[in-house]
Amino acid sequence: MPDPNPHYQKLPDGTLKHRHPIYGTEVWTVPDRSSRPFRKAFLSPQPIKMAEPENYCDFCQANYFKTPPEKTRLILTPNNSYQTLGPLSAAELGRSKALFRRVTNLFEIVPLNYWLKNHDFRLSAEQIQWQKDYLAQPQGMKHILEVVDTKLRLTGKTAEQIQSIPAKEKLHLADAFFGGNHELIIACQHFKPGAQFDNELVSAGDLSATDHAQYFLFTIAALKDIHASNPYIRYVMVFQNWLHAAGASVEHLHRQLVGMDSYGPSLEQALQAVHKDPNIYNSAIIDFSAKENLVVAENDFAVGIAELGHQFPTLAIYSKSRALRPEDHTPEEVAGISDLAQAFHAATGNQTPCNEEWYYTPRGSQDRIPWHILIKWRINNLAGFEGGTKIYLNPLTPKDLKDRVVPKLKELRALNKIAKMNIGDECRPKLAPLLYGQR
Ligand SMILES: [Zn+2]
Repeated sequence: MPDPNPHYQKLPDGTLKHRHPIYGTEVWTVPDRSSRPFRKAFLSPQPIKMAEPENYCDFCQANYFKTPPEKTRLILTPNNSYQTLGPLSAAELGRSKALFRRVTNLFEIVPLNYWLKNHDFRLSAEQIQWQKDYLAQPQGMKHILEVVDTKLRLTGKTAEQIQSIPAKEKLHLADAFFGGNHELIIACQHFKPGAQFDNELVSAGDLSATDHAQYFLFTIAALKDIHASNPYIRYVMVFQNWLHAAGASVEHLHRQLVGMDSYGPSLEQALQAVHKDPNIYNSAIIDFSAKENLVVAENDFAVGIAELGHQFPTLAIYSKSRALRPEDHTPEEVAGISDLAQAFHAATGNQTPCNEEWYYTPRGSQDRIPWHILIKWRINNLAGFEGGTKIYLNPLTPKDLKDRVVPKLKELRALNKIAKMNIGDECRPKLAPLLYGQR
């Protein structure tokens, strides 16, 4: 007999039909398809020649001048504390090694012009001052013009065309470097120490739990600053694409933030769902997952599950905090959530393409959703069946996913590669553990 839960029907032949309780996405997992070979990101790894400083892509340490200027940079000081610098001048770029750095995306999803033309947005006094100071140094001027030239070349302009554009016009194109709202947080290392092959990339799971927490805090500082500098932004989407197959144009660890003047359909759906049933994230997601034995890991601040109803196998991390937005969480709470994310990336491994997506209550919203993070394994392609039916074939049931991840987490814990947490059957989440917005 089918399971009575309409969102999670286990059929006698082993098929699982599941539907996301918030997004309504209908998913089938059919027995045997989970044993189909998954797409491997690296079929034949190629040897690499070690370079110090690293020089494998435009995000590497040797190429600080190939990205737009740095809004902020996080460094490790000689006495092992973290320090944020910035905004930096061109002269300062080579003076320290960046653990993480924050720059405007060269190809913005929502470009500066969108804000200038549609919202009458103007750069803040601080941004204008930084731009003036940056361009006043010959090294700064050279940097900016070179990056603009690179952008023009990448958009298909010939060398002659680029040369014929007056410097004044090029500098105008560079306004986005100082006031744009699509940003990158770029991590330090490209390859693991001592790497010999090009598949030995540093993924988020290869960072220490401590550095990963700093990666989160540095991202959240950028999120706050984007809101502060552009009052027309209603929501900042935060995401990380890992490997080309998951949409990354550069295979060097980085996260992106995009300021938006609307929420987009996913967040709208989530807000509508909590408007009808404020407790839905507890009842339909966390309590349901506990009942179905889908809890993967837990600590004092977050609970991680293998989530039902996604097109791709999806690990989810939910904040237990009363706070609704990343920037309202304490550093300790952020670290707790980051610990589960780092561990899940480590268990996923650096060879699996994945997307990390952040969701949280937008500023000004009366409806409340908890801060949560989805990590989607991009191991299956959507094909004609999905297009024709809107039924998605996910190769792994949430239980299959949990059973793959839990032993990996235990292995990683034994090697001290992840922070302290309860794993699998050690988790005992209490009923309704998410306090989002509860007073
Ligand atoms: Zn690189």
